[in-house]
Amino acid sequence: MRTARDIDRKKVADLLARERARFCEERPRSRAIAGAADAHLLFGVPLHWMRDWPTPFSLFVESARAAEVVDVDGHRYADFCLGDTGAMFGHSPAAVAEAVARQAARGLTAMLPSADAPRVAEELARRFGLPRWQWAMSASDANRFALRWARATTGRDHLLVFNGCYHGTVDEAFVDLVDGVPRARTSLLGQAHDPARFTRVVEFNDLAALDAALADRQVACLMAEPAMTNIGMVLPEPGFWDEAAALCRRHGTLLVLDETHTLSSGPGGYAREHGLAPDMLVLGKPVAGGVPCAVYGMSADLARRAERAKRDKPEGHSGIGTTLSGNALAMAAMRATLESVATPEAYRHMFRLAKRLENGLADAIAEAGFGWCVTRIGARVEFQFVSRAPRNGSEAAAGFDDELEALAHLFLLNRGFMITPFHNMLLVCPDTREEVVDGLIAVFAQWLGALS
Ligand code: PMP
Repeated sequence: MRTARDIDRKKVADLLARERARFCEERPRSRAIAGAADAHLLFGVPLHWMRDWPTPFSLFVESARAAEVVDVDGHRYADFCLGDTGAMFGHSPAAVAEAVARQAARGLTAMLPSADAPRVAEELARRFGLPRWQWAMSASDANRFALRWARATTGRDHLLVFNGCYHGTVDEAFVDLVDGVPRARTSLLGQAHDPARFTRVVEFNDLAALDAALADRQVACLMAEPAMTNIGMVLPEPGFWDEAAALCRRHGTLLVLDETHTLSSGPGGYAREHGLAPDMLVLGKPVAGGVPCAVYGMSADLARRAERAKRDKPEGHSGIGTTLSGNALAMAAMRATLESVATPEAYRHMFRLAKRLENGLADAIAEAGFGWCVTRIGARVEFQFVSRAPRNGSEAAAGFDDELEALAHLFLLNRGFMITPFHNMLLVCPDTREEVVDGLIAVFAQWLGALS
């Protein structure tokens, strides 16, 4: 079985140069816009990491509908990135577009709830099994607020995360395990205080380390994705979560599950699918069909404690909430998403095609003689340059190969397929078609062939 190390690196460099040249040649309009954009956009893009795609310059998007993105040069891409989950239910689903248009004419934001709010919260409670909900604008914010509530209700300062996690721009979660010690992520910009001061880090799937980290009863919450999705994909081992949740309960630590990505597991997320009972649950990105919006839910017991914590504080800034959170537009979009788009039928279609994609990629890898693994969480598929499914963040990180990854992405992009940058994630939406999945598998096999 061949590994990434057996690949001729000269060949990879040559292929990369060829794919880069092709990308440039075929995209004169994107290139012209990118050139002009440098004048007034820092880094030439609205957000600096949009330049971290493996393309020589940024693609500029003309439109995106259903499972397809069209760039300003008229190239059509079958989209398996789907806005890194923001468009997990397809681009501009009809029901969401209609709800947004309707609400846009009736007021966008008023610092007061619309009548949609209790109906949406009722549906969230039904789906996710937690009775009380609050709103935020992004999953990053929702996680920040969840952490504040955890600290406020437990009276504890510490946070526990898994090594290699990503929960958005939450300062305290940017901590890695370096030689067994929590250390601030070295890539952080403008970090004055040490985020590792109140953060503990253990490896995923390590119950003994988790037990030890919680034992002094200083940890307010364990914040975790039920399956790691941001360092490649890492699945929990059988029984891990039952025991991890029991350890949290035993040590008085709240369990906060960030289901921003693992909402790909089913209409009620991973926790509902697998019978987990978190104290808090965070959802962002696709919950309003791509309109900025996030929510977090609480158990009845925690909600009571949160109300008490708020009552016991003087009136004033709580550090929780932003002005546009829970605005009428996002609420209307979220109602449409939950009622009409993220339906059990939509998930059934996504699962069937994601399974087809998983099998197709795995077969192509095996046929090309590579020993790489393919992992799936519902509608989300990831291929990783490791021979055994990683058990934790460190093992997953060991499989990173920036050059190979860049080549895979560019090769696919030049042939009409877009996958998620910064790792090898492919997402299937309700509009993805079987023949497009098969087309992607064929081009992926062609890429593997080019490496041989
Ligand atoms: N939680 C998880 C698990 C995520 O993957 C992300 C973003 N990739 C976030 C939170 C943050 O989402 P946002 O950037 O929309 O705030």
